[in-house]
Amino acid sequence: MASKLYMKYQPVIGLEIHTALKTQTKMFCDSLNDPDEKRPNWNICPVCLAHPGTLPVINEEAVKKVILTGLALNCSIAHDTFFERKNYFYPDLPKGYQISQYQKPLCQNGVLEIPNNNQNPDSKKIIRITRIHLEEDAGRLQHDPLGDFSLVDYNRAGVPLMELVTEPDFTSGQDVRAFAEEYQLILKYIGASDADMEKGLMRVEVNISLTNADGSYGTKVEIKNLNSIAAAAASVDYEITRQKELLESGTPVVAETRGWDENKKATVSQRSKEEAHDYRYFPEPDLPPLHFESSHIGLIKQKLPELPQARRDRFKEQYSLPEADIEIFTADKVLGNYFEHVSSELLSFEKLTHLERPGAEHHERLFKLASNYVITELQKHRTASGLEDTRVTPESFADLVVRVFHKQISSSGAQAVLEDMFKTGASPEHIIKEKDLGQVSDSGQLDSVVDAVISANPKPVEDYKKGKEASLKFLIGMAMRESKGKGNPQVLEEIIKRKLGS
Ligand code: ADP
Ligand code: MG
Repeated sequence: MASKLYMKYQPVIGLEIHTALKTQTKMFCDSLNDPDEKRPNWNICPVCLAHPGTLPVINEEAVKKVILTGLALNCSIAHDTFFERKNYFYPDLPKGYQISQYQKPLCQNGVLEIPNNNQNPDSKKIIRITRIHLEEDAGRLQHDPLGDFSLVDYNRAGVPLMELVTEPDFTSGQDVRAFAEEYQLILKYIGASDADMEKGLMRVEVNISLTNADGSYGTKVEIKNLNSIAAAAASVDYEITRQKELLESGTPVVAETRGWDENKKATVSQRSKEEAHDYRYFPEPDLPPLHFESSHIGLIKQKLPELPQARRDRFKEQYSLPEADIEIFTADKVLGNYFEHVSSELLSFEKLTHLERPGAEHHERLFKLASNYVITELQKHRTASGLEDTRVTPESFADLVVRVFHKQISSSGAQAVLEDMFKTGASPEHIIKEKDLGQVSDSGQLDSVVDAVISANPKPVEDYKKGKEASLKFLIGMAMRESKGKGNPQVLEEIIKRKLGS
């Protein structure tokens, strides 16, 4: 009895995600696949417009990208597969059928681990991937706001589209967000898709139900037309509450398709689930079946780059950075790669002979220092085009980090030097000399600064002697000002303490 009660109204959630592949040309013809093309009906040809007598040709690049995605998600890859016709009529579908895969998807039985919905970062939840198949996209309809006419743009018709279907292994909006974000990141890493949801390149559909009292699956609702991952997660959390309230009041959940209303922050009914479609699937007679030797698949597998999770693990192992820094360098590969270049310079320090080389025991601190400067300062100065054209080489960036480490320059000084490095491409050493930005740590030079501050501030000096710690801070601040910002605050503190006899 108790366990049955426990099972009641547990959320059961599965995802279907369509992604437009990043390829030169469309799925079955040589029209360009350019999601940024604004001129309607520009990238079209007789094949993707389904003129009589035309024949499709399979895009090898698209097939390889789906297999690569399957390999990244630990799927088994079909050795033999074929395309099928999915028949339905809609004005955005020129042929009256979509070429898709039904019986034999290219990829099956994968897994992707996501962080579990709790505090322990090492606890993972396994999401099973049912299948990934390859099909073609439809065009886009644009309806006249007054309802008088509709326009159709076939630029997107025939673009290679990959569909991933998961098992119903999610239990919360947070799970859905974690999966969608990780999948999106993987697709970018492997170059399969830009996976931009705002542009419609990735489209997430949620299936959601709550379990019945006996633990069996309840009636599921489908949520479509979600234009961001945040909307997908929010719609799940909303729907869990809505369905629970219905069931608790004795009202059955209706099988239907709902959408997400961003203003109301609510899911809204779009259409009730009509009788199951009969798509009259049959093998596409105009295309040959596909056969892959294990060696073909092996060759594609060699193209798999380091994936996001492997990169996180490596960054932790190699640099001992905090999770937050690692996440930034995983999500932003360009920034992370720059950090790695700087770090490798920090380790091969022979090149920077004029500076003392920090020992191995300082590496962790050096990496963290480098990470801080890359994340805060480099971000500020990067251009829209990325970091490739930056004038600051990783060598000189590392050089600056070591100067900060040795307190040769203060942190505000380092920011000023970087500013100049980005403008002129000059070396840190040159800029520090030219602008006289070097931090003074020589106690002989700072002695007289402290003397002046002590004689000019008798009251704070008295207060400090009586034990008021805030007065010490004040005196250090005055000494910094007296040294025009160049005094090393730690050295100044030592001298003040020594002179005031503590
Ligand atoms: P359909 O026959 O309605 O297309 P499928 O079995 O093909 O359903 O599953 C489609 C998606 O719905 C998959 O992502 C799957 O994980 C999910 N799903 C299946 N059953 C349920 C359920 N009871 N509640 C929530 N999601 C479900
Ligand atoms: Mg289905």
